Amino acid sequence: MAKTFECARALILDKLSPLPSESVSLLEAVGRVLAEEFKAPSDLPLWDNSAMDGFALRAEDCGTAPLKIEGYIPAGGTAEGVAVRAGTAVRIMTGAPTPAGCDSVVPVEETEEADGRVLIKGPVRAGEHIRVRGEDVQRGQVVIAAGTVLRPAEINMLAAFGLNTVSVFGWPRVAILSTGDELVEPGEPIGPGQIVNSNAYSLAAAVRELGAEPLMLGIARDNRESLSEKLNAGLKADVLITSAGVSMGDRDLVCDVLQEVGVESLFWKVDIKPGRPTAFGLKGETPVFSLPGNPVSTMITFEEFVRPALLKMMGHRSVIKPFVKARLKEAVSKKVGRLQFLRVQVVESGAGLIATSAGDQNTGILRTMLRANGIAVLPAARGEFTAGEEVDIHLLGAVADLGQAG
Ligand code: AMP
Ligand code: MG
Repeated sequence: MAKTFECARALILDKLSPLPSESVSLLEAVGRVLAEEFKAPSDLPLWDNSAMDGFALRAEDCGTAPLKIEGYIPAGGTAEGVAVRAGTAVRIMTGAPTPAGCDSVVPVEETEEADGRVLIKGPVRAGEHIRVRGEDVQRGQVVIAAGTVLRPAEINMLAAFGLNTVSVFGWPRVAILSTGDELVEPGEPIGPGQIVNSNAYSLAAAVRELGAEPLMLGIARDNRESLSEKLNAGLKADVLITSAGVSMGDRDLVCDVLQEVGVESLFWKVDIKPGRPTAFGLKGETPVFSLPGNPVSTMITFEEFVRPALLKMMGHRSVIKPFVKARLKEAVSKKVGRLQFLRVQVVESGAGLIATSAGDQNTGILRTMLRANGIAVLPAARGEFTAGEEVDIHLLGAVADLGQAG
């Protein structure tokens, strides 16, 4: 019996866990997921320092006579042997350690200097323009939780403590196998009855977009020998994705041969349109996604099943894309009992998002996918959706970015 969409996706996610962690250079770390919480090995900043180019002094000495300038601490210099005494000021640059005896820094633009003395023009609050040791992060504090996706800001934090490598969850190597006697690779001559293996390329692009590594296995022909050889090769990767050969035709052998090579089937067929023949299995820990061959079905089932699975293996905590709400521009009617993924154009109307069909919803039509920046997920239980009704959308791109127009 076919699974519901939610049940099929939950089953997949339930079987998968993050890959073992590895250490990568900070330069390679953006987009990766932190495997262990990061505790500050020291305070940040490490020492009190000046937030401005100006003068270090005592707030209480200001507003009367000019202060005698005694000493200079540039960035990179030390405050050793330098001290502020009553009635004196030390010239200091941004980032330089503040000298003993001072409680404030006054920016140079708020001062007047003459004859080795500095006059402070306004009142000064004690503590002004000093960055205090540990004010940002205290030693031992958990600064970045495990499972955090590393952005430039997290990388800056790690680098600020002197790290040049970081422990992150592994990124899967994803084998991609196309199946079909009719397929030729891009660049090869296209003979009668042949079509180009475009699925392998959209899948590789989608895998790469997530940051994982695609492994191109090429084409298996619609016979047991060819399929079992290629499937066995694919099972050496962390994940195997196949396309086509899972429908009801007499040459649709993928599910059979997967079983022969030891893949345990967890489901075959989901109550969705497009994508009904999608199958999922496991050999040991290795997940195998068998996606339908129609290029649009392949792309949509990748988006809805494989994407969250890969994110989970990569250590992400939130793997299911959140829905955005949009109102349907026109009524939509569909079959009750099957969830439908409707390719839509989502635009901002000023009063919320509006979703319009991106064109012919036939899975043979590639152009509709070019126009779509979202997939409306229409629940299985319902058949009629009225114009103006709010539906759930998985965005595929920016709302303003409608892809190829027309
Ligand atoms: P199948 O499920 O094997 O009958 O394939 C369904 C449809 O998808 C057929 O029209 C195939 O020609 C097409 N198809 C299968 N594999 C690919 C591929 N790798 N690239 C593009 N189209 C494909
Ligand atoms: Mg086929």
